[in-house]
Amino acid sequence: MKYLLALLFTIFTLSTASAGSDSTAVSARKTSAEKLAGVIRYKTVSAVDSAQFNYGEFKALHTYLADAFPLVHSHLKVEVINKYSLLYTWQGQQEQLKPVLLSAHLDVVPVESASQGAWEEEPFTGELKDGYVWGRGTMDDKYRVVAILEAVEQLLEKGYTLNRTVYLAFGHDEEVGGFEGAGMISRHLQEQNVQLEAVFDEGLAVVEGVIPGIDGALALVGTAAKGNLNLLLTVNGDGGHSSIPPTDTPIDILSEAIQQLKANPFEPRMIPTTLETFETLAGKMGKKHQFALKHYSLFKGKILRKLSEERATDALIRTKLVPTVISAGEKYNVLPREATAIVNVRILNGENEKTVMQHVRQAIKDDRVKIERYGVYTPPSPVTATDTWVYSALKSTILGVFPDVLVVPALFPGATDSKHYTNLTNNIFRFAPQVVNRESAKLIHNANERLSVKVLENSVSFYNALIRNTCGEQELEQLVEKYSKGIPLGVGGE
Ligand SMILES: [Zn+2]
Repeated sequence: MKYLLALLFTIFTLSTASAGSDSTAVSARKTSAEKLAGVIRYKTVSAVDSAQFNYGEFKALHTYLADAFPLVHSHLKVEVINKYSLLYTWQGQQEQLKPVLLSAHLDVVPVESASQGAWEEEPFTGELKDGYVWGRGTMDDKYRVVAILEAVEQLLEKGYTLNRTVYLAFGHDEEVGGFEGAGMISRHLQEQNVQLEAVFDEGLAVVEGVIPGIDGALALVGTAAKGNLNLLLTVNGDGGHSSIPPTDTPIDILSEAIQQLKANPFEPRMIPTTLETFETLAGKMGKKHQFALKHYSLFKGKILRKLSEERATDALIRTKLVPTVISAGEKYNVLPREATAIVNVRILNGENEKTVMQHVRQAIKDDRVKIERYGVYTPPSPVTATDTWVYSALKSTILGVFPDVLVVPALFPGATDSKHYTNLTNNIFRFAPQVVNRESAKLIHNANERLSVKVLENSVSFYNALIRNTCGEQELEQLVEKYSKGIPLGVGGE
């Protein structure tokens, strides 16, 4: 109850009066790229420690958005959730239709001090150069905030009305788990008994030359996501002088435990989503692979062994764990009394915290190692079905903007804000309308992060079409009708 009251106090509606005719003029002059450059200038860096947040930057960004997208801010209901996240409601005419939610995030990861010198352009000045917008957040995820708002702004300009309500949900702490942002937006919607038709979030993208042996571009749509868990391993000892060490120090015992985890990986397993991925890709593979996939149960061992060889595909077929933080000792001649390690676990769908703990205990087989959960556990997501009208709508939207791609449902190995919406819908799609290759993928969360203006413009077209295809008037009716007749939508190479 106390919680509920606190929540009520933190949710209030932004004044829509701030968008005057002045700002309309400003917006008319600005291109999407200039708007993105403007958004980059706000240092909305999120941090695990809430005291490290520069909340003023988030508030200033809200004001900037109101100015840059005046029609959105005068036509949509704008709510500030938990002080720094934004929820926009574009009301549809048919209330019986479940709304669609477009999710993006306002926060960015910090610029590491070690990478500062590697930037060709300053990370927070929003430089426009050589057809690119430069800066932290251009690729993840501010371009999507701008593209979504720009798409709505364009539709409003044309007087477009919706059948189905659209929510635009912009969290402020995705990079640190999203519990205060998307988590609170989700709670806010649940309190109003909202159920959603679908959520469209970041995740996978259009990839070129990323999957070995596959030519041409693929639009990978994340229809499932792995779970996430951190384990804290602790070993205690007696300390003392390093000149007369015991047989096993805490460092020895911890090292052995980590070694055992490496020596005992989780069993490989094909989940339905990954099988669907390879079935969709089969047309692009050689005859031999097609045959093996067709008779999967017969060639199971061989296929799984092959997939284990590449780390990208290995991550699709098993729970993976890796030590990411390790600490022990303070002085070279003093035996540490404690050694600890944090092991990050990415859980394959079908397993959970309990089964992971069992596996880890069995692999380590040493009672001197204390094993406990560290931080929050995110279970693997439910699997989104692809035999639905809304998947078809997404697919034809993708093909409208990227006519030459093959649309492929796939497992997303990371986690995004969409994990907070799993109880509001079964249809969660993790796809960003961004084209990445091996080179550009390296720029995400890195120095010289930049986005081409072309990608930004395509993203605006993508969200414009996605809103029309899922929530528009005529388009929606046609789509549902086509789908119910079993006519395949889109022109994919399947
Ligand atoms: Zn992101």
